[in-house]
Amino acid sequence: MPRPIQATIHTEALRHNLARVRQAAPDAKVWGVVKANAYGHGIERVWEGLRGADGFALLDLAEAERVRALGWRGPILLLEGVFEARDLELCSRLNLWHTVHCDEQIDMLAMHKTHQPHRVFLKMNSGMNRLGFAPQRCRAAWTRLDALPQVDEISLMTHFSDADGARGIAHQLAVFDEITRDLPGERTLSNSAASLRFGADAAVRADWIRPGIAVYGSSPDFPGHDVAHWGLQPAMTLATRIIGVQHLAPGDTVGYGSNFTADAPMRIGVIACGYADGYPRHCNTGTPVLVDGERARIVGRVSMDMITVDITGLPHAGMGSEVTLWGRASNGAVLSIDEPARAGGTVGYELMCGLAPRVPVHIA
Ligand SMILES: *Cc1c(COP(=O)(O)O)cnc(C)c1O
Repeated sequence: MPRPIQATIHTEALRHNLARVRQAAPDAKVWGVVKANAYGHGIERVWEGLRGADGFALLDLAEAERVRALGWRGPILLLEGVFEARDLELCSRLNLWHTVHCDEQIDMLAMHKTHQPHRVFLKMNSGMNRLGFAPQRCRAAWTRLDALPQVDEISLMTHFSDADGARGIAHQLAVFDEITRDLPGERTLSNSAASLRFGADAAVRADWIRPGIAVYGSSPDFPGHDVAHWGLQPAMTLATRIIGVQHLAPGDTVGYGSNFTADAPMRIGVIACGYADGYPRHCNTGTPVLVDGERARIVGRVSMDMITVDITGLPHAGMGSEVTLWGRASNGAVLSIDEPARAGGTVGYELMCGLAPRVPVHIA
């Protein structure tokens, strides 16, 4: 028997979440963001659930080739554009739309020989200060692109830094709007958080939204709002089983560093999952898991291959019991990936992207 750990990708949940973000921005087209191998889920594995998107957005040219290999003939957008001049050849060959965020990318386009003019997304830095033209340089970039025979359609793009937080998006929206008001072309502004939180605003919906995390069933603004609030379902479950049981007396400790001490008699389930499976080592005592679909907590340190769970209050739990690290248990109970992520001082994005290659993945 293989080690009992397993991840499951829920096709129906992906479909549901996609429909849910569409509902938040009903008249926008939706880029399914599938960068980072579909946030760790696997591009091919999410395909059935996400093929209803209007296009796919990603960063890596090899991932774009994989989406084309699945038979997708619709739009694909390279969110960071090209990294070197010869990437443009692949854009021509596979008909990839690409972001243009700096003058060097315009220089490359100006040198590019193509029969097929490209569709580009001019990216403005409206305050995030990561990629994009400064607002006052955006129009010059637009004019340069507009003059190139290699370019046929110019769309406009920006990215919000605080769509999930208290600062919000109004300040960036104002900058973007002021500079681009009279420019033609489609717009794309919003990630999951902006789409769900501010989708009622037509400017936010724009022509295309770019949801990633929500489609995978994690709340973009947890703990402000949880998945139940947004009506999202987990697209990934990570589950394992109890492979050992220990009985502790008061004063006994658990695991490396003895950093948990029992203050009463306890029963501990040892589960086949550790940081080598992608489970964060920072998830300390108290991090929730589901044992046979019931909430329990981790005690002691996460080690490479094992984690210890307090099953004192679950008399029916024992050898072979199902333990859900995140996602949906067999009895239907849900533990959102956002909970262990928060307990480990991180976000659901990092946990799903960090699923380790040694974990077998099934599609449901
Ligand atoms: C990753 C990414 C997104 C998706 O963000 P989520 O928070 O996962 O919805 C959208 N736009 C750009 C430019 C991105 O890099």
